[in-house]
Formats: sequence, C-alpha cells, structure tokens
Amino acid sequence: MTSDAALTEAETFYLNDYTPFGFEVDSVELTFRLAPSATRVLSKIRFTPKPGATDLRFFLHGEKLKLISAKIDGTDATPDLTAEGLTCEVPETSFLWEAEVEIDPAGNTALEGLYMSGGMYCTQCEAEGFRKITYYPDRPDVMSIFTVRIEGDEEVLLSNGNPVSQSQGLAEWHDPWPKPAYLFALVAGDLVNHPDTFTTQSGKEVELNIWVRPGDEDKCAFGMEALKKSMTWDEEAYGREYDLDIFNIVAVDDFNMGAMENKGLNIFNSSCVLASPETSTDANFERIEAIIAHEYFHNWTGNRITCRDWFQLCLKEGLTVFRDAQFTSDMRSASVKRISDVIDLRARQFPEDQGPLSHPVRPEEFQEINNFYTATIYEKGAEIIGMLKRLVGDAAYRKAVDLYFDRHDGQACTIEDWLQVFEDSTGRDLAQFKRWYSQAGTPRLKVAESYEDGSYTLTFEQSTAATPGQPQKDPRVIPIALGLLNGNGDEVQPTTVLEMTEAKQSFTFDGLASKPVPSILREFSAPVILERATSSAERTFLLAHDSDLFNRWEAGNTLAREARIDMVLEGAAPDAAYLEALQKLVRDDSLDPAFRALVLQPPSQSDIAQTLYERGVTPDPQKIYDAAETLAQTLAQQLADSLPRLYAETTVEGAYSPDAASAGKRALNARVLTLLTRLDGGEQAARQYASADNMTQQYAALSWLLQAENGAAQSHAFFEQWRGDRLVMDKWFALQVALATPEKAAAVAKDLTRHELFTLKNPNRFRAVMGALAGNHAGFHHASGAGYQLLADNLIVLDSLNPQTTARMCTAFQTWKRYDADRQALIKMQLQRIKSTTGLSRDTNEMVSRILDA
Ligand SMILES: [Zn+2]
Repeated sequence: MTSDAALTEAETFYLNDYTPFGFEVDSVELTFRLAPSATRVLSKIRFTPKPGATDLRFFLHGEKLKLISAKIDGTDATPDLTAEGLTCEVPETSFLWEAEVEIDPAGNTALEGLYMSGGMYCTQCEAEGFRKITYYPDRPDVMSIFTVRIEGDEEVLLSNGNPVSQSQGLAEWHDPWPKPAYLFALVAGDLVNHPDTFTTQSGKEVELNIWVRPGDEDKCAFGMEALKKSMTWDEEAYGREYDLDIFNIVAVDDFNMGAMENKGLNIFNSSCVLASPETSTDANFERIEAIIAHEYFHNWTGNRITCRDWFQLCLKEGLTVFRDAQFTSDMRSASVKRISDVIDLRARQFPEDQGPLSHPVRPEEFQEINNFYTATIYEKGAEIIGMLKRLVGDAAYRKAVDLYFDRHDGQACTIEDWLQVFEDSTGRDLAQFKRWYSQAGTPRLKVAESYEDGSYTLTFEQSTAATPGQPQKDPRVIPIALGLLNGNGDEVQPTTVLEMTEAKQSFTFDGLASKPVPSILREFSAPVILERATSSAERTFLLAHDSDLFNRWEAGNTLAREARIDMVLEGAAPDAAYLEALQKLVRDDSLDPAFRALVLQPPSQSDIAQTLYERGVTPDPQKIYDAAETLAQTLAQQLADSLPRLYAETTVEGAYSPDAASAGKRALNARVLTLLTRLDGGEQAARQYASADNMTQQYAALSWLLQAENGAAQSHAFFEQWRGDRLVMDKWFALQVALATPEKAAAVAKDLTRHELFTLKNPNRFRAVMGALAGNHAGFHHASGAGYQLLADNLIVLDSLNPQTTARMCTAFQTWKRYDADRQALIKMQLQRIKSTTGLSRDTNEMVSRILDA
C-alpha cells in the first residue's frame, strides 16, 4: 500500500475553520530501523477521545508513506488511505494505535521529513514534514511526550530530549516536555562533536555539543560561545532557564532553511553554525551568533509555548526574531543593529508588503504553509513586538511576557492569547493595535508642520494602499518616537513617543524659542513609509547633529537616495551638499566605524527602483545602475586625498577577532577599499588580497577586484585555494554573479550552473547562484530577458526535486509590476511557462499564481 499520488487539487485552508483535534495523544513511542532507501518506522501512540469533542473523526496525516501494518489494541486495522493520510474506525475509549511504515530517506530530495545529506540521516519537520515520517495528527496543537528508539550502524544516533540508553547500533531518547510533531528531530551519522557544559542559574549542569562531519571540528568554537552567551542572556533578560540535561546542535549541508529549533536537538544549515577566521567573514560570524541565539530562544518562545495552528506562525517567529535582535543589540551596537535590520526590512519586507504576495502578519488563508515563512511574518512580526514594547514601556513589557510564560507554559496559543496578557497586565485596550496582525500593507505616513508664536504643530496622516483581498484599511496605532532640535543642533525636545490612533492627527509642542527641526520616527519606531517634503539642507543638518543615530543614518540614506533619483530622472550631477556632509562624517573619528560604514553604504538599486515606482515613475534598471556607478566614482574622487589615510587607519592589525569593534573597523575599511579601487584600478585591493590572513579581508579584496573587472587571477587562485570547502565555494559562486556587469550577469550565472561543483540538490549552492542573479538588479532585469529565462529554466528543474526552495526563489519575480511593459511581458511569459509545467508542486503553483494575479 503506497500513497504517493501527486497532490493535484490545491486546497485552501482558512483560519476560521479551526477545530481542535478530537483526541488526546497521551504518549508516542517511535522506533526507527535505519536503511537509506527503506527505513522502517514503528509507532505506538496512545489516543484518548476528548470528552465533549465535536469532531471525533480519526484522521492521521501521512504522505509518501508505505504502510506495512496497522493495529488498534493489538488487532489488525484496515484504514482508508488517501494521498494526504488515513481515516479509521476507532474505539470510543482510550486505545493504542500501532503502525509500521517504510520510507525512503535517500530518495527524499525535498529535504522535508527524514532525508539524507552527505551520508547522514537528518530531519526537517516544520511545518508539515512529520507526516512524511509516519501517520500522525501533524498539527501544532497536538502536543505529546515522545520516546524514540533508533537502530542503525551510525556512530552517533540523536533525537530530542535526554538520552536514556546508548549502545552499539542502538540509542533511546526520552523528551519529558510535551511537544508538537514539528519539533521532532532525528540525526544519525558518523559525526564528531565539540563538547562543552553550561551551568544554569539554578545550578543545573547541561551538557552541550555541536556535532559536525569529521574535518569541521575546528569550526565550532564560535558557535559554542554564542550558545553559552544566549543561555546566559535569556536567563538575565527574560528569566528563562534551559530545561533538559543536554543540548545538541548538528550541522547539515543540505537544508532548506537557516536552522531549526527542534527540542534539545537544533539542526543547522552548516552555513549558519560553522565558522573560522580563514573561511568566514565578519558578517558570517554575526549571523551565526544571531541564529544560534534565535533557535535557542525558541526553547521558550515556540517550544514550551507553541502555536495553535500555522496561521499563528508569527506568535513564535515575530517574538523570537525580536528577542534575537535584542540579544545582538546587547552583544554589539544597538544602533548599528537597528540600522541593519531596517535596511533588511526595506529590502525584503516592504516590497513583499506592497506587491502581489502581500499578506497579513497573521494570514487568514493559505494553500501551502511553507510559502508563509516570509519577511512579513518574521521581520514585520518582530516590528510589532517592538511597537508593543515601546507603547507599554520596558517594565510593563517584561511583566506581560512573564505572565505569558506563567499562563501558557505547555500550551499551543494564538495571537489573542499573546495580546490578552498585555491587556490584563497593563489594562490597555489593544483592539486597534491588533490591526497590525490582521491588515496587510505598509502604512504611509504624511507629515505637515506649522510654527507660530513658540508653538510647533506636526500633523500626521496615515493611509495604506489596498492589498490582495483587503481593499479597505482602518487606521492603526502608530508609535512615533520624536525629538526636536534647535538651529544649533541642540535637542529642545528629547525623545518622546507620540501615539497616533486616528487617520489624521496633530501634536503640538509649546514654549519653543524658534522653529525646531523635527527628528521623526527615531529608532524607526514603526514599520511605515514616512512622506515628508523637506530640504537637502535639513537632511544634512540632521546627518550632522541628530542625537538619534538611526535618524542620523536615515538622513544620510535619504540624501543618497534623493541624489540618485535626481541623477536618474534629470541627469543631475551628484548632490554637492550630500557629498560634503558625507566626507565630514567619514572622517569623524568620534563616530563608531561600523556606523560610518553603514552611512557610506549606498541604498540598493532595488530600493531606488521601488521608490521610483511608488512615485509613479517606471524605473529603468540600467539608468539606476549607471547613476550608482557615477555617484560612487564621484565620491571616490572627492575623497581621493583622504582615502589612503582612511584605509591605513581602519586596517585592523594583529590576529583576527570577530568582535564587534574589529568587525566595524573592517567594515569601514572595506567601504574605503571599494572607493579606492575606483581610483587605483585595484592595486590596493590586489595587495590586500595577497596579504589577507582572514576571509573578511580576502573576500572584500576579491569583491572589489571583480567589480573593477580586474580580478580574474585572484578569482582563479581563490577557487584553487578553497575548492574543498563547501561554504567558501558558495561565496565564490555568488560573488561572480553578484558583481557581474548588467550585460554579463545572466551569462556568468549560466556558465556557473554548468560548473562541476554546481548542484541543484544543495539549496545553498542553488541560492548562491540564483539568489545572486536575482540580487543583481540591473543584471537580472537586463532588457534582453536572459536573466528571467535562466532563473525560470532552473526553477522548473528544481521544482521536481525541491518544491520548497523553488517556491521561495519565485519571490525574485514579485516586483515585476514595477517595470516597463516590455519587461513585464518577458517576466509574465516566464511565470506562465513555470505555471504550465506538468506536475508542478503545490508550493510553486501557489506562489506563481499569486504573483501572476497581481
Ligand atoms: Zn524561528
């Protein structure tokens, strides 16, 4: 009996249809007899009908399983099988369900459920992968105690919870904490570990391990330190202690996501845990620290308290992203972290929120939940937590979250539960605030000002454009952090939070000696688009004087964007005031180098395209590219005298350390080097490449050499040096495409897809090439359409292997309505070609259909 029929009819699931499962799952015992192409999974599950349950239909999810046998209370059962699962007649009282199924981990290229990667077994069950392991009520609100027995020849056999027994070829694990099936994990392989221990605040000793393939042992130390820092931080910041005797992390090469928070057994994409100075950049180190923290923090926000259904995904993700951002802010620079997060939000979430894939932070319907692991649910979800904290204050936030842990530990919850603890502990009515969860789209905030007799009034007007399925929007609660400066740059009104609740609302400040300069949305206090007619002089003033570092950066960023837009639209010369302000700031040694590096980082070309589109102008990718080149060249020439000195001053001497201060200095050094390369054709970059003893400097030097089209020798040397290192090779693949000129990008990417080290089966490698192509704005959108065609060609092939990664990569097309009719026609043709592919997955079909419906 095999049930692997293709899922053809796309069913839509609705939040409003939620009904609880009719049975308690009292306990789960699983036995795995591992074999690459024929693993047997034996399950013994005790079910008890819930008193008063409305739906007592016994349905277990199951996909691509070969059912060998099924029993109820020891007697053979004859369930009805479909492609999605089984139904069966069951007793009216507690009963034992036993099933044996066979699965094929070696043939599992979708990387969901149990699969093999580099000879090891591993799992990915979130969101709905467990149903590919055995028949089970695979929904997050079904929580149970799992005991797992693994039989296999591998040296290391791991599952969730605490080890019960270990012997040659056999291991048994017991997880005392009830959990949903999506948190189940199993790993088996000939792995080596990097061990350590951690003593919790109550004095309990926890065994820690990072498990890797032999040869990667020397890349675990940084991840381990990050884990211990995270454990300490969660105790101090949230009072949350770890709750098992052991915490295992495993690095896996083939993985669809970044990492997964399975209880006590986190599984990581190796790119998100393995680090060494020779092979990882500063950005890699920072990301690894953040992701280890993120997955660890899920132990409380996600695992101990989980989601009732997948519509509530932001309950665990928004909160946990917010928590990991707090952690990074505490470990590094809070302002630099905030600026980086906003750059990311605008690059990924804003276009999503304003395009065909726009959806509420808590969606109300989906076809394939894998398509909702989005920037909106994660990053905008985190912004909502930040706004809530700002509105209620730090102490009230902590009190409410404590209540959340007290009240809901061990439960599967909803956004309503989350907001209720804030209402109960603060007395605040959050009904209007809740619109942030239910309404899609990015609000635009218009600002007008007036000044008379010492009285200054700001009038804000909010509006949100229609999004798919939501033509009308109601006003939201918008916390606007605001400060006022006088003409000397002194602060006459320190940061205060204005609480906007109306569609149009005014706030007045009295007793001012002169008309102030407002600093609006400090720390980017709400994820909105600020629309304010103001002068280049005022932005220059804020860039020089604002006490809020975020808004200082914002002033510089806006200046850069406007200068670029003037260049694109009017062929104007680069704004002199901006260039002058930038020079001053770059040389200001009192400012954090990491901050100066961010100010020097130009807005992305996609960002310029989006801004033009929002202003009703069809963006021309080639013109935007040319303007970026001209501005960078002009800036390099203006700074010519100071660049060699700045380069020398920001060069970090001595042994490499990934700490925030050194990394910030290197970030500024890299920005200086890119400008220098525009003047010297790559001489300094070539010297840096030759002498670099760490990846950050080697990578920066190679990048700018490639950009100057003068790095062929170094690129070849880099390949020869690192061809044996999978993660460094991903960088090599990506760099060549990312830095190719618009005319060459698609051809370079196409050549790389024919390279001996290119494979569709490894999501990292696929993303390295195709992600870089999609990220090369002028190259991907080249008028020839070659970029679109190459991506579509590859998506069509990948879909038959790995629907999840294919569907996610379709987002490269989500902004297609921005562009001219010719480009739209070219993209539409590719989208239709993908959609008409025979046997297209549900994942990709849903994504392409939504994008086409725009
Ligand atoms: Zn997460």
